[in-house]
Amino acid sequence: MKENTLTTSKSAAAPTSGAARFTSFDPRDGSAIAHYPIATEETVGQVVADARGAAQWWAGLGHAGRRSRLRGWGRVIASRIDDLATVISNETGKTPSDAKAEVVVALDHLHWSSKHAARTLRRRRRAPGMLMANHSAAVDYEPLGVVGVIGPWNFPLFTPMGSIAYALAAGNAVVFKPSEYSPGVGKWLVEAFGEVVPEQPVFALLTGDGSTGAALCGADIDKIAFTGSTATGRRVMAQCADRLTPVLMECGGKDAFIVDDDADVQAAAEAAVFGAMNNAGQACTAVERAYVVADVVEEFLDNVRKQCAVLVPGPGDGSSFGPITMPAQLATIDRHVKAAVADGGRVVVGGPESVRPPYVHPIVLADVPEHCVAMTEETFGPVLVVNAVTSIDDAVRLTNASSMRLGATVFGRRNVAHIASRLQVGMVGVNSMIPYVAMPSLPFGGVADSGFGRIHGEEGLKEFARTKVVVRQLAPPAVKVLSFQKPRWATDVLVRLAKVLYGR
Ligand code: NDP
Repeated sequence: MKENTLTTSKSAAAPTSGAARFTSFDPRDGSAIAHYPIATEETVGQVVADARGAAQWWAGLGHAGRRSRLRGWGRVIASRIDDLATVISNETGKTPSDAKAEVVVALDHLHWSSKHAARTLRRRRRAPGMLMANHSAAVDYEPLGVVGVIGPWNFPLFTPMGSIAYALAAGNAVVFKPSEYSPGVGKWLVEAFGEVVPEQPVFALLTGDGSTGAALCGADIDKIAFTGSTATGRRVMAQCADRLTPVLMECGGKDAFIVDDDADVQAAAEAAVFGAMNNAGQACTAVERAYVVADVVEEFLDNVRKQCAVLVPGPGDGSSFGPITMPAQLATIDRHVKAAVADGGRVVVGGPESVRPPYVHPIVLADVPEHCVAMTEETFGPVLVVNAVTSIDDAVRLTNASSMRLGATVFGRRNVAHIASRLQVGMVGVNSMIPYVAMPSLPFGGVADSGFGRIHGEEGLKEFARTKVVVRQLAPPAVKVLSFQKPRWATDVLVRLAKVLYGR
C-alpha cells in the first residue's frame, strides 16, 4: 500500500512526519489503496501562503502564458486517460468506461476554459452616461488570488475541475481539498499539473477529512468553491463567514423528470432510467422523481421495466454501473426505499432487497406520497420514483416545491418550452438527459438548497474574477458638479434637466 505525502504542483515534499493520516479504499472489495496525511490547520496555512506567492506569478503570465500551460496540462491528461481513469475507478468503483468518459468531459472543460478566458475576462468599455459624459469608463476582471476548491467523491475529477480549470484560467492559484474518498484523483491531477508548471505551487493539494476542509475555509483565501451536500455547504458558509470569504455553492439535488402526454414515451423512459441509474444514481443531477401525466404513466412504467431488466451493477466494463462508493450511503438508500414502501409506495422494479452491499440493483417505485423522505431528501442511489400527475400544472408545482432545485428534464412536444420556462431550477434538459453537463459554454448550478453561483461557461470564469471599475476623466467638466466649487445654480439646472429627460 502506498504512503503519500502532501503534494503541490511544485514540490511533493511538504512535511508530514508524525501527522495523522487516513486510508483510501476500493469500494468494490473494501481493500485499502493508500494512506494520506490529514493536513492540519498549520499545514493548510502554509500551503495557502505558498499558493499566494505563486498566484502573483501565475497572474503575471497573462492569458496567453496561462493558456499555453493549461493546454500543456490537458495534453498530459489526454495522453494518460487510461491511467487517470484507473485511479478514478479504484477510488469510486465506477466502471472503467464511465471513468474514461469522466476524464473526457473534464478535458473538454479544461480546453474551453483556457481558450475562452482571455475573451471573457478582457476589459469592457461602458457608456459613462449623460452626467459623466466627459469620462471614459471600463470594467476589468482581475484574478481573486487564491481559490480553495473543496470537492466531492461522486465525480472526483469532473466536478472539481469545473472550479479548478476555470479558476486557474482566470489567473488564480488553487488549493484543492478532494473528498477523503478520492484523494488519489486529486494527487494525480496536481502532480500532472506540476509537470507542466514546475516553477511555482500554483495548484496545490491538501488531503484530509472535514477538519482539513474547515481549516481551508478559515485560511487566508479569496474564495471557496464548494461542491458537496447541502448540509456540509451550510457548515462551509458558516466557517467562511468570519473572514467574509465569498463562497460558490454547488450542493445536492433532487431532480425531477416531467413527461407530458405527447412525449415519445419510450425515449423518455430510456432517458429517465439512464438519468436515475448512471453512476449508481450518485450524481447531483440524478433523476430522483419522475412526474408523468396519468394518460401515459403505465406505458412509461412498462418501458422503464424493460430498460431496467438489462441493467447489472458490477465492477467491470460489462456492468451497467458500479457500487455505492461511500458505505454510509447504503443506509440512506435503504431507509428511503423502506420508508417509501411503508408509506404506500408501489414496488415496480427491485425493492428493499435490491440493496446488496456494496451494490444496489435498480429500484423503481411508484405512487410514493410527496411527504415521504424518498421524495424530500436526496437518495443518491439507483432509485427512481415515478408518480402520476393529473396535469402538467401539478408536475410543475411538485418540481418547484422541492427545496433542492438543481436541474430538471422535460419530455414532450407542444408545450415543452412553456413547461421549461415555469421550472424554478438552474438547468432544464428538453427531450434530452443532462445535455448541459457536457457543454462547457453553459453555466452550471442550482437554486435554493442546491446552491448558488455558477461553474462552467463565461459565468464560471467570472466567478473567479474580481470586477473592478476604472473611470478616467477625458476633459474638464462643463460645470463642476463633484466639487465644493460647484456653482449655486448647478443643482437647479440638473433638476430641470432630470425633469425634462425622465419626468415625462
Ligand atoms: P460532503 O458534503 O460530505 O463532502 C463534500 C466535501 O466537503 C468533501 O471534500 C468533504 O471532505 C468536505 N467537508 C466535510 N466537512 C467539511 C467542513 N466542515 N468544512 C469544509 N469541508 C468539509 O459531500 P459528498 O462528498 O458526500 O458528495 C456528495 C454530495 O455532493 C451530494 O449531495 C451531491 O448532490 C453533491 N454534489 C453536487 C454537485 C453540484 O454541482 N451541485 C456535483 C456533485 C456532487 P471529506 O469527504 O473528507 O469529509
